[in-house]
Amino acid sequence: MIPFLDLKGINAQYRAELIEASTRVIDSGWYIQGNECKEFDKEFAEYCGTKYAIGVANGLDALILILRAYKELGIMKDGDEVIVPSNTYIASILAISQNNLVPVLVEPDINTYLIDPSKIEEKITPKTKAILPVHLYGQTCEMDKIEKIAKQYNLKVIEDSAQSHGAYFGDKRSGNLGDASGFSFYPGKNLGALGDSGAVTTNDEELANTIKALGNYGSHKKYENLYKGVNSRLDEMQAAMLRVKLRHLDEEVKKRRDIANYYTKNISNPNIILPIQNSKLNIQNDQNHVWHLFVIRTAKRDELQKYLLDNGIQTLIHYPIPPHKQNAYKEWKNESYPISEQIHDEVLSLPISGVQSLEDTMKIVQVINEF
Ligand SMILES: *Cc1c(COP(=O)(O)O)cnc(C)c1O
Repeated sequence: MIPFLDLKGINAQYRAELIEASTRVIDSGWYIQGNECKEFDKEFAEYCGTKYAIGVANGLDALILILRAYKELGIMKDGDEVIVPSNTYIASILAISQNNLVPVLVEPDINTYLIDPSKIEEKITPKTKAILPVHLYGQTCEMDKIEKIAKQYNLKVIEDSAQSHGAYFGDKRSGNLGDASGFSFYPGKNLGALGDSGAVTTNDEELANTIKALGNYGSHKKYENLYKGVNSRLDEMQAAMLRVKLRHLDEEVKKRRDIANYYTKNISNPNIILPIQNSKLNIQNDQNHVWHLFVIRTAKRDELQKYLLDNGIQTLIHYPIPPHKQNAYKEWKNESYPISEQIHDEVLSLPISGVQSLEDTMKIVQVINEF
């Protein structure tokens, strides 16, 4: 069986370094907010090109804490609206509702699966305070257009970079394309820890300090509490694992790009629509996609998935149910987002990772071409 993602194999590549790093943590006697976290924050900020990175407990918390910090700073209040794509992973939307803010869904572009900038303006009201673009599947959104709208209406831009570590838009990386960005280091992400963790990146010092305090019981200083905060910290063990994995992230992305290019060149089946890099992005290189997922689309999705499984190829669907059809958001059940619904009915994610062999990639192509 060709697995969708061989996580064990991915981490086995760095086994010696991971063991060395975990031994360092065990022997340090310091397990929360110590040197590993400090160094990771520094190294990750440098990687993204931002002034600050703040390690937190997971990707959802990263997004929650950004919005919460804007509330504490008086920039947002209960009932304000945040624009978000209708086809994202539910966490992007949960972060908004958890803050008593209102998610306003905007349909994606059917070609890129990314929020359609031309549909944002019609959803802006006096209550709109932010746009939350999601660089879904690892491809950066059209940030120039989004930035322009945000400037015009005085909105914050909060990136969901949970799938796009290292992706560029122009000469800047994901995490440095808006006012603040949330990252996830869930084990299956391109930069994955060996447990849960996440980070916020920003160039805004006040925001960074507020988020740091909010994630540590609302405290800037031990036993002094400025806010009714939460406990959402990155721990030393995961920070140490992430420091190892960060050093290899660009290699991982390069291998994913090679597989994506191989798929793109060699899959030819009239039933299947391949992912395209957005020609409208006006980017001459291929750095705007880090291929967290290689997502194809076909009207015969379920049939194809079963056929691939019968042929020893595991695939996944990202995602089977659109957010507005989830029971958690019953209030949206009568709303219609046809592009999003079509995407959720038709997408299928093929195996892709830095440890996938050329042999496996060739087999996948061959089996698909015979569908
Ligand atoms: C994974 C993911 C998240 C949530 O990250 P966790 O670390 O699992 O909390 C948020 N948004 C998107 C788009 C994701 O893919």
